[in-house]
Amino acid sequence: MRAVLLDQHGPADNLKCVKNHPVPEPGTGEVRVRVRAAALNRLDLWVRNGWPGIKLPLPHILGADAAGDIDKLGPGVEGWAVGERIVIDPSVSCGRCEYCRSGRQNLCNQFKILGEDTSGTYAEYIVVSARNLLKLPDHHSYTTAAAAALVYSTAWHSLITKGGLRPGESVLVVGAGGGVNTASIQIAKFAGAKVYVVGSNADKVAQAIALGADEGIDRSVEDWSKAVFRLTNKRGVDVVVDNVGKETLFGSIRAVSKGGRILVVGNTSGPLAEVDLRYLFSKHITIIGSTMAPHSDFVTVMNLVFEGKLAPPIAATFPLEQAAAAHRMMEPGNVFGKIVLEV
Ligand code: ZN
Repeated sequence: MRAVLLDQHGPADNLKCVKNHPVPEPGTGEVRVRVRAAALNRLDLWVRNGWPGIKLPLPHILGADAAGDIDKLGPGVEGWAVGERIVIDPSVSCGRCEYCRSGRQNLCNQFKILGEDTSGTYAEYIVVSARNLLKLPDHHSYTTAAAAALVYSTAWHSLITKGGLRPGESVLVVGAGGGVNTASIQIAKFAGAKVYVVGSNADKVAQAIALGADEGIDRSVEDWSKAVFRLTNKRGVDVVVDNVGKETLFGSIRAVSKGGRILVVGNTSGPLAEVDLRYLFSKHITIIGSTMAPHSDFVTVMNLVFEGKLAPPIAATFPLEQAAAAHRMMEPGNVFGKIVLEV
């Protein structure tokens, strides 16, 4: 089969599309999917570059997100048929531990992300557990389904399930372009919140407004946490979505209202941030971390995508063979919306 192989960690040039990679066989409880669309995530860049101590068997196939057709059923799979259109839940869990049994698959003791710790979706075929499948309605494109899966389920779990966002609350999204941030803007609007966005330039701010944000703050021209203070009549916002981390956490602590929540699902600027604890207790701030989503949140948010209530912006599509070019486009971090490989 065609597949994009990473033979050693490093730059985008290390991604090589081959034509003769072995087609994987589904085991018990698994299905083989003919991938039609595979979306890129920033996670793919981190895995591609590697980190000290990474022990990933190489060559490796990247990619967490995919939609496609069921190609073959492994032994014991019921309720699915060859040819059905599906989208894949990128959270890989054991299905047996106490967290999985209580529907909290993203807390699984053996939790993995497709393409990070297991073979991923930049390929013509992939084998996944039947538990990771969701039926894709006939009218819905593979491309938007794949583009939505990881980032919309992650943002939904953080904002709605963990963050408890309520109608009428205010939300600040720190960063306008990344996949989870654009998903957070749409989900917060859908939930009935007033949405403020901090963007790195006027273009990003304009795109966030076009996506539904109520107020944009261009951090190239003003101190964004002071701007939030001004725009909210010195009150601050109820919820801050901060996936930047090291560079922004102090600003988020300043921008959040008394009793507010700061939601963290990532740390694009680095993992170690300093927290002035005096702000934390005197403002009664709650910091809520989460990663990925349980399957129930994946199903909820994908159904909203199928209904057109949430729609991931697509920045570009590339054929599978041009995965390296797609990576080069994503790498500088100035793309608004998702990049998808069509297979
Ligand atoms: Zn488990």
